[in-house]
Amino acid sequence: MHQLTLAEIARGLADKKFSSEELTKVLLTRIAQLDPQLNSFISLTEDLALTQAKAADARRANGESGALLGAPIAHKDLFCTQGIRTSCGSKMLDNFKAPYDATVVARLAAAGAVTLGKTNMDEFAMGSANESSYYGAVKNPWNLEYVPGGSSGGSAAAVAARLLPAATGTDTGGSIRQPAALTNLTGLKPTYGRVSRWGMIAYASSLDQGGPLARTAEDCAILLQGMAGFDPNDSTSIDEPVPDYSASLNGSLQGLRIGVPKEYFGAGLDPRIADLIHNSVKELEKLGAVVKEISLPNMQHAIPAYYVIAPAEASSNLSRFDGVRFGYRCENPVNLMDLYKRSRGEGFGPEVQRRIMVGAYALSAGYYDAYYLKAQKIRRLIKNDFMAAFNEVDIILGPTTPNPAWKLGAKNSDPVAAYLEDVYTITANLAGLPGLSMPAGFVDGLPVGVQLLAPYFQEGRLLNVAHQYQLHTDWHTRTPQGF
Ligand code: GLN
Repeated sequence: MHQLTLAEIARGLADKKFSSEELTKVLLTRIAQLDPQLNSFISLTEDLALTQAKAADARRANGESGALLGAPIAHKDLFCTQGIRTSCGSKMLDNFKAPYDATVVARLAAAGAVTLGKTNMDEFAMGSANESSYYGAVKNPWNLEYVPGGSSGGSAAAVAARLLPAATGTDTGGSIRQPAALTNLTGLKPTYGRVSRWGMIAYASSLDQGGPLARTAEDCAILLQGMAGFDPNDSTSIDEPVPDYSASLNGSLQGLRIGVPKEYFGAGLDPRIADLIHNSVKELEKLGAVVKEISLPNMQHAIPAYYVIAPAEASSNLSRFDGVRFGYRCENPVNLMDLYKRSRGEGFGPEVQRRIMVGAYALSAGYYDAYYLKAQKIRRLIKNDFMAAFNEVDIILGPTTPNPAWKLGAKNSDPVAAYLEDVYTITANLAGLPGLSMPAGFVDGLPVGVQLLAPYFQEGRLLNVAHQYQLHTDWHTRTPQGF
């Protein structure tokens, strides 16, 4: 039963082949058996899950239906869950029980989804390897000595290991697409403003966006449908109708114009990944797509701009964690300054402290123009590049990451080496565009992802292309050994 996708679960529940309660029990047992190898969960919510599963079964018995009614999922541990620890992967919030549900959590619960638990993540979503969590590193089910990617690495590892069919993640600079690529999943970062950020603990507010991680595009469509939509509680939420994503999956790709940026194939890209990306292009050509080389000339500036803007926003967002109102407080402070300094010094890990320092520096009076303002100007140039490209093509295709997963600890002494892994993903966040990563093959037994980007609000187009690709390829069906 653990092999079923969300779409198959919906059919099985509708046909009364099994109940949500039965399925939930199977998955909870599987998590208890296998997760000690992966460390993909921070908290399990067994009681809540069984209550929700029984309620979903009762709703179905009363004639209700719905693709998420009775479907087991998990939430990245930065979505607030009422009465349940919401740690953000940090000692700072180890003792924090959210007083309310995030909009995403509330919407999925209302649709009948069953929450099995809260997944592990890089501390405050800062990272590309899921090694910065206070709760320990997450392991990649494809090879337990390798990282699963980050920061939504717990969600990715759990879904890839078939502990559950799908999970939520968030993506500030790649944290849905990159772990999806490194664990052989399909992951979608929606257009900025498509999914409510209310109750999602902020990292960099102008970049953060929640989205689905699943094995197939079909399942991403189902989960996104439950997450997307206008929310008056989030002032950046956009009041645009949410299309029927599942209905968009079957469109023909005949005449689809795919742009492949020449800048994507520079020296930093593993040539074996380049080959797999070219294979995926050929596959889409067979389905009727027309491929064209394009240029994104300012792409080289994306990493420096992002690693100014994201820390700047983080330093501001994280100032609320001061030992007074939320989370960790140091022992026996001697005065207020001591309380601030030690609570923050002891509560935040090294990567978070590094980002706060970089961000506070970039925003300081003497350096604001030189760093933050300049980075914002680069951000506009990057957006303009995309707007020009989308005048010529319908989607942009390239690698999700320059390398496959790396060994645990391999980049610990060099944070910039990890930052460089975000080169293909962060431009979509800077521009606010939707992006999807899907399985495209393997290098040395480790999964590789291909990334698709589309104009604003064209999540349906991304899911359509990915679904058609997945009907004609079987990379996404491969299962890691031992799971
Ligand atoms: N790796 C990037 C960072 O550390 C992106 C993280 C994310 O998307 N949350 O900032």
